[in-house]
Amino acid sequence: MPYLDDPLIIFTDLDGSLLDHHDYSWQPAQPWLDKLSAAQVPLILTTSKTSAEVAELQSALNLTQQPFIAENGAIIHLPPDWRDEAAVPFHISGAGYPEIRQILVALRQRYDFEFRGFGDVTARQVALWTGLTEEEAALAMQRDASEPLLWFGNDLDFARLKKCLMREGLSLTRGGRFWHVMGTGAGKGQAVQWLSDRYQQKRGQPVISMGLGDGPNDLSMLEAVNYAVVIKGHHEHEMPLQREDVAHVFRTDAPGPHGWSQGLNHFITLR
Ligand SMILES: [Mg+2]
Repeated sequence: MPYLDDPLIIFTDLDGSLLDHHDYSWQPAQPWLDKLSAAQVPLILTTSKTSAEVAELQSALNLTQQPFIAENGAIIHLPPDWRDEAAVPFHISGAGYPEIRQILVALRQRYDFEFRGFGDVTARQVALWTGLTEEEAALAMQRDASEPLLWFGNDLDFARLKKCLMREGLSLTRGGRFWHVMGTGAGKGQAVQWLSDRYQQKRGQPVISMGLGDGPNDLSMLEAVNYAVVIKGHHEHEMPLQREDVAHVFRTDAPGPHGWSQGLNHFITLR
């Protein structure tokens, strides 16, 4: 089990993990946030939200010096002092948003597929779909590398859409409300691996990674880290992990930020 002063990096999902599923508060996690910050352990927000949505939260959590992973891993946002080589704030896996939109629109014209993506509608419509305010919906629409869509057609057409997207190097991932179209090689797990390698290079020594998440879209992240905390979710999905090092997997009995703290208590030894 790692000590707090080991070369740790921690990846965390937001909704239902660090943030309460109902009121989005992280109060119960504050004592651990303070400890991690004092020990200079990087905490990397790893979420399906867009960069625009994460930015505000990241500064509320005092984490603006850290990278973050947005749009389910399709985009990695790098802090200013990481940008020396390429001088770009982003690492994008797979296709960018304009290309994804172009492919979707062309396929819809050709096959009469019945779907609507965020790029087809107004902020008011996205607000109605999601329960966000119109201002929040506008932030959720500032996309870099993935497109959420609602499917209104039949199963046969859906299978055909999936096949067509695959030929274009795109895949469909199921989220809470929407299907997400993004690059086939993109995902939370791949992004976590990419960043872990970068930390290792930067520091010139192996890092110990930990991941915390509550949903099916966190599974690839929980497979990719050294220590996995499966937070009790507000859903019926099983959270099966393929890994054999069962002592490195902890399943909490509390949800949200209470479970989040439970996970860190379980794995990290203070001295
Ligand atoms: Mg979640």
